[in-house]
This record gives sequence, structure tokens and C-alpha cells, in this order.
Amino acid sequence: MSGQTKFSVLVSMFEWIQKTKYSAQKRAKFRKFLDNFCSPDDYFAAIRLILPGLDRERGSYGLKESVLAAALVDALGMSKDSADALRLFNWRKGGAKTGANVGNFPLVASEVLQSRQGMSSGGLTIREVNDLLDRLASSENRTEKSSILSTMIKKTNTQEMKWIIMIILKDLKLGISEKSIFHEFHPDAEELFNVTCDLKLVCERLRDRSQRHKRQDIEVGKAVRPQLAMRVSDAHAAWKKQHGKEIVVECKFDGDRIQIHKNGTEVHYFSRNFIDHSEYAYGMSEIIVNNVLADRCILDGEMLVWDTSLNRFAEFGSNQEIAKAAKDGLDCHKQLCYVAFDILYVGDTSVIHQILKERHELLQKVVKPLKGRLEILIPNRGLNTHRAPGQTCWSLRAYSLDDVEIFFKETIENRDEGIVLKDLGSKWEPSDRSGKWLKLKPEYIRAGSDLDVLIIGGYYGSGRRGGQVAQFLVGLAERPAPNTYPRRFISFCRVGTGLTDDELDAVANKLNPYFRKYEYPKKGPPSFYQVTNNSKERPDVWLESPEKSIILSITSDIRTINSDVFAAPYSLRFPRIDRVRYDKPWHECLDVQSFIELVHTSNGT
Ligand code: ATP
Repeated sequence: MSGQTKFSVLVSMFEWIQKTKYSAQKRAKFRKFLDNFCSPDDYFAAIRLILPGLDRERGSYGLKESVLAAALVDALGMSKDSADALRLFNWRKGGAKTGANVGNFPLVASEVLQSRQGMSSGGLTIREVNDLLDRLASSENRTEKSSILSTMIKKTNTQEMKWIIMIILKDLKLGISEKSIFHEFHPDAEELFNVTCDLKLVCERLRDRSQRHKRQDIEVGKAVRPQLAMRVSDAHAAWKKQHGKEIVVECKFDGDRIQIHKNGTEVHYFSRNFIDHSEYAYGMSEIIVNNVLADRCILDGEMLVWDTSLNRFAEFGSNQEIAKAAKDGLDCHKQLCYVAFDILYVGDTSVIHQILKERHELLQKVVKPLKGRLEILIPNRGLNTHRAPGQTCWSLRAYSLDDVEIFFKETIENRDEGIVLKDLGSKWEPSDRSGKWLKLKPEYIRAGSDLDVLIIGGYYGSGRRGGQVAQFLVGLAERPAPNTYPRRFISFCRVGTGLTDDELDAVANKLNPYFRKYEYPKKGPPSFYQVTNNSKERPDVWLESPEKSIILSITSDIRTINSDVFAAPYSLRFPRIDRVRYDKPWHECLDVQSFIELVHTSNGT
């Protein structure tokens, strides 16, 4: 019966799949759902609830856990300081009644909902659930969102509402891959999705599992899942893997992977997650229309920011801000710059089946570069912008391992993100990570010497580590007068990876008696910590006194970043705990000045 598939049936399947350990059984259950319980007319309505992260028909809900908590508190008419409201707000930390579900928002929410909802199913169909979710996504403010959530709560039981919350958060934790879901649905589903990024089209065209679908090529206007790079550990491994092939090495730019689709004067900017970033249109579309010489074209590349006063690419992270400045017509010395490293479609033809060498030739014919605005990446040519001293290009034909090593070394000196090695004889394949492209990154190289920093605060984790400190805020010392101990510490960065669970537990257990909650903004942190007001920095607990603390040796990507989140003038990208220095007393923590000297001597900013 079309349009009649019940949400409760889908929920039973979710519960069953989640509890089952074996992937074959999970898949069989999903198959049974499709064959026996879901009308083909409802396929899209069902699959978009099963793979919510891939659905682009519905806009964003604007509801991450913290906003969702506030909206649920309103929807349930609870007072903001009631025990249940605090449970929702503090879902990561736990409250007075800390339950086993701390760190798992949907489970904490179902604890709260349990006493307020009936046991029996509300009887909604999956179509009705989708209609409510559509309303939730299109509603503009929290009052409207709360009222729609309130309707949902009235029309569901706790189990159903828990799954709706998981769908809103786009994380179902079913333990079955997207690949398996696609495969069970139809043998051609994954391939069709990869070239269209359109779940509705896949569900509608592939209703009959016994009918194979003719291979479809990419089209202008429909996002394609990008070709990906396989990671390699060093230049030697990369060279060995590409043995005997014609190779190009390129700089790995640190921006946004964007596919530009040009159709006459219409231009789209699709991200890796096939979101259309229309905000890039203001700074870019005119340039694309005038400088891309084919009427219809798809380019693959990286969106970056070019700093016209420094004559170089700006650090990662300012794309949105610069796009907004362009939209608001603000004059600034930074501008969006697109670096096209590939071309996928020209005129009326997909060119992904041509080899990279031929695509480079097309790229050169079709795109007219414009310095600092639109660049192309062609071996030994193109990108006439400055790089590191002595370096003339961002892309190079590599004939030996030495060529790769030298290029990589220059990349490190120039503080770029890494390099990508590409087989010039390869086709461009949607979603492929089989090794046609290899990436090599200088992450976690020692920053010249050990960075021994002091733990000054802690952040609670989620999931398995919910309710426990799982990451640390670390600080640098203010340089003390000779023969005295430091008195103040300056927040530096947040770090959580690098230790085993046991090592992390050992540090957290030692410090737990000295961690104090920090109730922002009522009570500030202890006065011997210098911090910013940035909410991204704010830890959940502060260490009540530095003398009780522990030093961590951290390593990082060699690049530092100018920090506005932390109080120190620089912070680190991808910091990682190398070891815990139980042997080193707290007052031997690295001081800010020494750190700045270190940044400058290791070829800093
Ligand atoms: P990472 O976090 O390392 O960027 P990822 O999972 O986002 O990895 P990968 O395909 O593994 O993506 O790595 C390649 C990414 O590097 C591309 O998605 C793209 O954003 C970026 N990139 C930068 N410069 C290049 C280049 N010259 N060629 C290909 N990709 C590049």
C-alpha cells in the first residue's frame, strides 16, 4: 500500500539491526524490510531516514545537540533549571542523577521523555515523519522548532522519538555501512549515487532490483563524489607504489575541495559532501563565467583565500569569512582564489575517462588563469604565484624518488599541508581511494624540540568517555623571573589524541581530585590562568592549582596557527600527546617566549 509504511516498522528494524552483531544478518533484515514491509513508492521516504547524511532534498535542521536540548526543554514545557532540563543541557557531563547514558544525547533524551510519553506507537507513517521533518528544517526560529518537536512528541512513543532524534542528528549508529545499504537496495545504487549525489533519483530509478541500470556518466549540475587520495607514510612508500608510472607531484592545498559546475551563466560550487556553497558565488561566479572558456564545464579543485598584501595564500579557515566580506561588498586585502587541479566535463562530454595527462591539456585550453583569483595546476607550469624561496612551481613531473623527496621537503619548509602524487595515466573515478592519487603529509613531525606543556583544564568526552575528562586544555608558562617558579599560565591548545585509553585514564584519575567545574560566565577561571573569552576554548573543568598538575609532551603538525581561540599568540594544528612527563615537575613547563623563539627559528610566520 503506497504511502502507508508505518514508522514503527522502520523503528523495529532499526532496533534489530542495532542489536545484531553480524553484518550478513543486518543486511538480511534490511532486505526483508524492503521486500515485505515497504512499498516501492515509499523507498525514498524510507531510505532518506536510514541514510540521513546523504539526503539533500531537505535543508539543514540547524539543530546540534545543545540547540536540540534547548528546543526539547521548550517543547516539553520544562523549567530550564529542572533536573531533567539540566540532564539534557549537561548530556555530556551528567548531572545530579548521572546515568549510564551520559555522552549519548538520544539516550539521555529518551530517559527524559520516558515519563512523559505513552508506551504504544503513535501510528505515524514514514511519510508523515518526513513531512514533520520537512517542517522542522524549514522553520526559522527556535519557537517554531519547539512547537514542531512538541507535535512529534505527542504523535510518537519514546522509542520512536529516540530514532527521530538520531535522524535529526544524522547519526543512527546502526553498525551497517552506507555501501551495504546501497548494495542491498540495488546492485547499481552506489554507482548511480556516486555520479549524481541524488538519493531521490536513485530510489526512484532503481525500484526494481532485478533490472540492471545502464551505467550513467556525470552531468553538469549534479554533484559527483570526488576522487580521493590514499594515504602513504613516506616518499619511499609512495614512489614504490607508483612504480613504473608517469607521475606528477602537486602541493596539497589546504582549503575547501570544491567542484565548480558551470552551465552558461549558472555556476554551482559543490563541496565534498555535495552541499551547494552558493556563498562562493559573490567572489567567484563572474570570474568563472568569463575565464572558463567552455559553456558547460566541471572543474575539480580547491577553494582558497589569496592575501593580496602578503602575496600568498592565507591560512586555512578564512574561506567563509572572505566569502561573506565579498557578499557584503567589503574591501579587504583577501579574496577567494580557486585552484583547479582537474577537469571533469567540457562542452557536452564527460572527460573523466580520459587520462590525467589529457585532462591537464584540456584544463589548460579551457581555463584562462587570473592571478590570485583563478589558477590552474599543471606540471612545471601554471600557478605563477610565489611559493617558498627557490621554489618555482606547485606541481612537478617526478622522474625519481629524489624528485619526490625534494618536493616534499620544500613543502615542509613552506609549511604547506603536504603533497599529492598522481598517476598521469589514470582516469578520474568517483569516490575511489584505491591509490591513483597518494597523499603524503608531514603531520606529527617533532616541532624542533619537545613541547612540554602543563595541563590547566579538562573537557568531558562523549560516547564511551561521556562524563569523564577525555581532552585537556594545556598552557604555557609566563616566563618567570630568574630562580623563581612560574606564576601564570597562558592557554595554548586543546589536545586529546595520542595516549591509549589506559594512559588517558591514569592521567585523568590523578587529576580528578583537583578539577573544579567552571560555571561560565558567573565564575571566571582561577586568576593564575590567562585565557580568552572564546567559547571554543572554555574547558568543562579547571585545575585548581598548577602545582598539582602534570606535564605533557606534545608533538604537532609542524605548522603553528595564529590563535584567536587561545590566549597564547600561536597554537598548534593537529596536536597530539607524545608522552606523559610524570618525571618532570610542573614548573619546568615551556614558557611562552621560548615557544615563540622556537616558532621563529623553525621557519615560523
Ligand atoms: P585530508 O583530511 O587529508 O584532506 P580528505 O579525506 O579530506 O583528507 P583525501 O581525498 O584523502 O581527502 O585527500 C585529498 C584532499 O586533499 C582532497 O579532498 C582535496 O581537498 C585536498 N587537495 C589539496 N590539494 C590537492 C591536489 N593538488 N590534488 C588533490 N587533492 C588536493
